[in-house]
Amino acid sequence: MKALDELTFDNRFARLGDAFSTHVLPEPIAAPRLVVASPAAMALLDLDPAEAETPVFAELFGGHKLWAEAEPRAMVYSGHQFGSYNPQLGDGRGLLLGEVYNQAGEHWDLHLKGAGQTPYSRMGDGRAVLRSSIREFLASEALHALNIPTTRALCVIGSDTPVWREKQERAAMVLRLAPSHVRFGHFEFFYYTKRPEQQKELGDHVLAMHFPHCLEQPEPYLAMFREIVERNAELIAKWQAYGFCHGVMNTDNMSILGITFDFGPFAFLDDFDAHFICNHSDDQGRYSFSNQVPIGQWNLSALAQALTPFISVEALRETLGLYLPLFQAHYLDLMRRRLGLTTAEDDDQKLLEHLLQLMQNSGVDYSLFFRRLGDESPELAVARLRDDFVDIKGFDAWGALYIARVAREGVVEQEQRRKRMHAVNPLYILRNYLAQKAIDAAESGDYAEVRHLHAVLSNPFEEQPGMESYAERPPEWGKHLEISCSS
Ligand code: AMP
Ligand code: MG
Repeated sequence: MKALDELTFDNRFARLGDAFSTHVLPEPIAAPRLVVASPAAMALLDLDPAEAETPVFAELFGGHKLWAEAEPRAMVYSGHQFGSYNPQLGDGRGLLLGEVYNQAGEHWDLHLKGAGQTPYSRMGDGRAVLRSSIREFLASEALHALNIPTTRALCVIGSDTPVWREKQERAAMVLRLAPSHVRFGHFEFFYYTKRPEQQKELGDHVLAMHFPHCLEQPEPYLAMFREIVERNAELIAKWQAYGFCHGVMNTDNMSILGITFDFGPFAFLDDFDAHFICNHSDDQGRYSFSNQVPIGQWNLSALAQALTPFISVEALRETLGLYLPLFQAHYLDLMRRRLGLTTAEDDDQKLLEHLLQLMQNSGVDYSLFFRRLGDESPELAVARLRDDFVDIKGFDAWGALYIARVAREGVVEQEQRRKRMHAVNPLYILRNYLAQKAIDAAESGDYAEVRHLHAVLSNPFEEQPGMESYAERPPEWGKHLEISCSS
């Protein structure tokens, strides 16, 4: 276990030089204090969890202090936002403080979000508000606990610094961890500014640091692109299986590692709704829940375009063609498991679509349905769940098919079935209203609820005594909260 001053840095991205990032110092926030820290994320840096309570922790992650070995940099990138190319993006309010390596030899980017203005801030103030910092923190750690690849969050630091959004709020910083902060938009930036040499430097760096096994392939860039396609297909399959809506799938928010990246107005589904739009500013529903699947492919095509200097168009096309079948395979595999099925049958996809349509029509709670399906034998569970459906007859028909399908797998002891299903069907989900309640308390200076919610969500599959209220359906007021893009 290490103390804060014992971290070891090796700033590989910073060494790429000024064409890729700009040196900027963090601008401190006033009266920095710990809102919440993640002991599991601290462990990634070998940090003693007790360090979070020290004054120097809030000073370091509130921009007041810096390690001598840190080299804070704002990265340059561009990207497609809502389908249009924006040549002018980059870290407008976040800084890559440096790369720390742990005892296991893993490198972790330390990225401080809300650290003040940079050359890429455009009209922005370089700040992040407390509410969005808490949402990013909770979502990162909750997704990780659900086994969904994501950036991690070490802590949120609150402050007295005022910032203006729709109203006056307080600035905060969130410390994000990831093996890399390179986005699709990094490659697009060097492609559209016609700098093939620097683009190659970036590509070689990413290959060597994050895809070293691809260097052994006859075409390393193609092998890397193929893996990016595979990872994103698997990631988006997990989002769809667990009802996670990202909200702003612009190519500058897509990680080359295939991890959930840059949290804005995200949401986990309460009632199942394939057409759900979590981003209040997304009028066209470009990033609606079900559109995430084709948008994943659209974004990979944008990356493919940027890689045309290195890979033939034919090979890129063929590789892009892997995305949908891979997505389908991962998604169906996950959903079979959520349904408690251990074998594959041709009609499983139909059985699933039939269920989702019934859930959609009746507004059934997406997470709780699967959890309850495993609580009891298929017959008893179906008999209990039917009351949640408006179209009871329709659900009974599905239930009969489901019971017959499970029976074809042979006799399984209910206790075993329950354990297996509960291990993939969470009881606790980061519902928007739960986040909102924690944020309301934090905005008035009480951080207990944020910490408590974080602890509950860190163990989403196991029933936690006394936490029943966190597993309930949202109250009416909490169902349709409008989450704006402002952050
Ligand atoms: P996002 O929608 O958070 O992914 O941000 C899109 C772009 O806007 C990125 O380049 C951000 O760095 C930048 N940005 C967002 N908010 C701010 C802000 N308050 N100040 C400066 N830049 C910002
Ligand atoms: Mg972003």
